[in-house]
Amino acid sequence: MSTIAHKLQAVDATIRAASNTAGRDRASIQLLAVSKSFPAEAVLEAIAAGQRAFGENYLQEALDKMAAVAAALPAAPIEWHFIGPIQSNKTRPIAAGFNWVHTVERLKIAQRLSEQRPAGMAPLNICIQVNTSGEASKSGAAADEVEELARQITLLPNLKLRGLMTIPELETDEARQRAGFARLRLLADGLRAGGIELDTLSMGMSADLAAAIAEGATIVRVGSAIFGVRNYD
Ligand SMILES: *Cc1c(COP(=O)(O)O)cnc(C)c1O
Repeated sequence: MSTIAHKLQAVDATIRAASNTAGRDRASIQLLAVSKSFPAEAVLEAIAAGQRAFGENYLQEALDKMAAVAAALPAAPIEWHFIGPIQSNKTRPIAAGFNWVHTVERLKIAQRLSEQRPAGMAPLNICIQVNTSGEASKSGAAADEVEELARQITLLPNLKLRGLMTIPELETDEARQRAGFARLRLLADGLRAGGIELDTLSMGMSADLAAAIAEGATIVRVGSAIFGVRNYD
């Protein structure tokens, strides 16, 4: 078995243990393998080990890798998730090439993604990125802007609002990790109480995925625990 296959098994075991502890069903949590900085060969190894959903942060790198994977495995049912910062002049290839976008933080980007989603494709799945730490330097919509943005997104024809995403402060203490994730969960609960349909909480990475699962994560985004140490971030 390849190293990547072994690491995928280890991450799956961590997810399984965390979901047991939380009294949750393993099947309610999707593992998104974050392949940024790693070559198409690493993605192909993960696919061979059964992984289907991949996350990428940088558009050109992603497009090159997606083309290489499609050339090697034209029929593989791969899901690509865009999880990086979005420049407004780069929305068209994101709208055409991805199944999910986790990092929408303003309406203008959402409008462009909807307009540019090619006819005949399923609606693009969207998460609103939320700044749960409140620091001005962090990306994501402010918590008090999320409801209005969510309502606007539900009106766009070629998008499907799925949920919220956050990248909290790096914390080593599990109680502190959980506090950041709990803020996202409570925000989502509030939106649902207001009639907005959401089924996704995208939160948790290699170092804090157990805390995220304890707080209700439905997608964990895991890079280094699967692929190893990156040569950039
Ligand atoms: C890189 C990245 C990840 C994966 O981080 P690891 O710590 O390597 O698991 C998850 N989410 C986002 C948004 C990222 O940029």
